[in-house]
Amino acid sequence: MTGPLPYRGRFAPSPTGRLHFGSLVAALGSWLLARYHRGEWLVRVEDLDPPREVPGAAQAQLATLAAFGMPSDGPVVWQSQRHDLYAGALARLLADGSAFQCHCSRGDLAAVNGIHRQCVASDRSRPPAVRLRVAEGARIGFDDGLQGRFEQDVDRDVGDFVLRRADGHWAYQLAVVVDDHAQGITDVVRGADLLDSTPRQILLQRMLGLPTPRYLHLPLILDAQGQKLSKSMAALPVDDDAPVPALMAAWQALGQDPAPMAGILPVSGWMAAASAHFRPERLPKVTSMTFAAAHNNAAASAV
Ligand code: GLU
Repeated sequence: MTGPLPYRGRFAPSPTGRLHFGSLVAALGSWLLARYHRGEWLVRVEDLDPPREVPGAAQAQLATLAAFGMPSDGPVVWQSQRHDLYAGALARLLADGSAFQCHCSRGDLAAVNGIHRQCVASDRSRPPAVRLRVAEGARIGFDDGLQGRFEQDVDRDVGDFVLRRADGHWAYQLAVVVDDHAQGITDVVRGADLLDSTPRQILLQRMLGLPTPRYLHLPLILDAQGQKLSKSMAALPVDDDAPVPALMAAWQALGQDPAPMAGILPVSGWMAAASAHFRPERLPKVTSMTFAAAHNNAAASAV
């Protein structure tokens, strides 16, 4: 009999477009850490928000991951096929009073910056959302594997947050907690844009009686205007036909030494060498860097 795996990581893109350089940095970082720990690495498609999805994007993302030598180690999980799991978790939270139905609209909450701490609904006939009840003074902290200690006053800064939207769609926070647990994920490695979602996820885990995985948040790649690449014109998709130059740039954005990687082709050989030469202690302890800095880094250390 084998015991539980010591390390299982994942990459969980939302199919809102092709993978860009920022997503490649997150995918490669989480893949390298999984390999470094001799663990598994799973891909999960977070397709729970049809209005934001781009037709064909999920398949294109999976094709890119394969072209870059990072196929999922197990079957790809599609969140759109897992409604029963989310419904089960929500039912438990509703049954024990940890969650409640809420008729407040965006407009109702405008005066409190959208932070829900009590119901102020002006129209109780509209379909309700379901929110998690966040206790007064609830403060959650955790030790991030790269960024160090991170704390948040969830009650004051976030408030009672949505688990199922009024339009019936599942909120990311609920689905991610349910799936990370259901898939046995031990290590969540992702972009630092999600650092401030993590306390909410830990709070939900506690209310559902689930263990908390380890978290590590990699630097987010920003454009020259300081915007997330996915939201900007600089979000040029990475080219499936030329993976190695993009991998090399992502490797250097992750603070790794290019010297032992020079001239290695094709992608399978490059990835094998990368897993042998990866040094987690070289990961940059910053929450963001610009696309230009990541590339200059690459150019500077390549000479
Ligand atoms: N689906 C989320 C995104 O693409 C990532 C979720 C996660 O890694 O927890 O931003």
